[in-house]
Amino acid sequence: MSKILVTGGAGYIGSHAVVELAQAGYEPVIVDDFSNSKESVLAGLRAILGRDVPCHHVDCGDAEALRGVFRQEGNIAGVIHFAAFKAVGESVQKPLAYFHNNVGSLLTLLQVMPEFGVENLVFSSSCTVYGNPDALPVTEATPTKPATSPYGRTKQMCEDIVHDVSGASSNKLRTILLRYFNPIGAHASAKIGELPLGTPNNLVPFITQTAAGIREKLTIFGDDYATPDGTNVRDYIHVVDLAKAHVVAVQRLLDRKAPDTVETFNVGTGHGNTVLEVVQAFEQASGQQLNYSIGPRRPGDVPAIYADATKAETVLGFKTETSLLDSLASAWKWQQTLG
Ligand code: UDP
Repeated sequence: MSKILVTGGAGYIGSHAVVELAQAGYEPVIVDDFSNSKESVLAGLRAILGRDVPCHHVDCGDAEALRGVFRQEGNIAGVIHFAAFKAVGESVQKPLAYFHNNVGSLLTLLQVMPEFGVENLVFSSSCTVYGNPDALPVTEATPTKPATSPYGRTKQMCEDIVHDVSGASSNKLRTILLRYFNPIGAHASAKIGELPLGTPNNLVPFITQTAAGIREKLTIFGDDYATPDGTNVRDYIHVVDLAKAHVVAVQRLLDRKAPDTVETFNVGTGHGNTVLEVVQAFEQASGQQLNYSIGPRRPGDVPAIYADATKAETVLGFKTETSLLDSLASAWKWQQTLG
């Protein structure tokens, strides 16, 4: 059983990846500082897997603490690095915190991994690196554009750092960069899911909280974009599908099928949906009428982006399986367990 360190493994995507890794026969080990996640996630994981997942309460930016984890665990076959701050708006308010945490933790990890002979890395990147693309869908060869937020810049910087480190002749790092589109939904068991702290920034938790009566109404950020109904287009991928992409990426690294450098994959469905389509699909999936109104555009939003998912399918054999409707139904089921 190969041991995989999952930084940010108590987070939204990380926790779903832990489940898929364990169910695929890997031994996930969580490293999380719980700055944006809750200990209750561990109980959810236990309920799904029927056993405890080892968890180190450690900040990835703390080199000594991280060394302690590698030393204690021994024999780590690879790392999936999820741990990062992810709120676009907050990153504008607290840019230093974002650079420090997102870039700093990667630097620390890249420093510590070779000390323990660990050469395989899967890194959580984002479609935000494409900025506002000139053509759709975006392929991995689509040029990146200047980021529209410090958050986006940290993802671009992290990608650059990984390329530079992999290119250094003394280094044996092999990395798969996964550029996520918009993850939504929750595990079918409704034992784990998204746990936004405070008011959600993201569309789907805002929708489910509105339907649950926690928020009064959803504001749709603009309906005057050059899209089919005027609202933004995004590529919404079910979080369990996204989690499975990590399993195949890890498998590829451990099987030595990846080149000795960096490979980049879009992880999306390959389809775009407008905000209004998501609202309508949610109403259908939940049987609830959603209270919403149209508001002004949100600064920094790109009009439309969705993935060309061909490379992940041909190279990784990865294809999403869950429909938008089923993804939203799982999000609603999860919300209902939260009360
Ligand atoms: N959105 C919205 N109202 C909200 C939150 C989000 O209309 O309260 C829209 C947002 O403008 C974007 C889409 O939903 O077009 C997805 O936003 P989210 O923040 O979930 O992800 P992003 O694509 O920004 O990473």
